[in-house]
Amino acid sequence: MSEKFLKEVFGIEEIFINSNIKCENELYDFYLKEVKDCNKCRLSKNRTNLVFGEGNPNAELMFIGEGPGADEDKQGRPFVGRAGQLLTKMIEAMKLKRDDVYIANIVKCRPPNNRAPLNDEISACIPYLHRQIEIIKPKYIICLGSIAASALLNTTTAISKIRGSFRDYKGIKVMPTFHPAYLLRNPKMKKLAWEDLQLVMKEMGLL
Ligand code: URA
Ligand code: SF4
Repeated sequence: MSEKFLKEVFGIEEIFINSNIKCENELYDFYLKEVKDCNKCRLSKNRTNLVFGEGNPNAELMFIGEGPGADEDKQGRPFVGRAGQLLTKMIEAMKLKRDDVYIANIVKCRPPNNRAPLNDEISACIPYLHRQIEIIKPKYIICLGSIAASALLNTTTAISKIRGSFRDYKGIKVMPTFHPAYLLRNPKMKKLAWEDLQLVMKEMGLL
């Protein structure tokens, strides 16, 4: 169908709105029907809120973290604590807003005492992330930290080794970089993380 035809018959805005609604419904339906009450792993026991993810359902860029911390568990939203504030700044440094992107995690429920999620918890939860990616269809993904990078890319290579160049996940360009919580503890590494973000900006035409 030509763009001119679409404009004349439907009005381009209407198509845009409709595709937004359709996409949002698909994500939300998925959450309601398949994720909301999940107890596929032990992390369901201690959660206050499951943290599904949030942002633009048509996002070109998706960020993937490790799992909810205490603040995220309390609010049911990803990256709202101290690391989250740094992530928001990183997004804004890329000339984007939080609302432009989609933010999710490898596991949707908080591991106790902020420990890393265990392999069986990751295996139980990651199909949800795979489906989110399938629905959102981002062009780019930024994996925050080694857990996100290794789980999505199925690799054991250290984050310091795989960061800084694009990897592939089902045709999507994936940039692994340092987790903002790590950057808070190691501010000197911010320079390298910024280089990684700039590579993504270049690809997105933001630089
Ligand atoms: N750290 C993560 O990996 N994810 C969050 O949502 C918050 C902190
Ligand atoms: Fe389900 Fe994932 Fe939560 Fe485990 S972490 S209970 S698999 S939503």
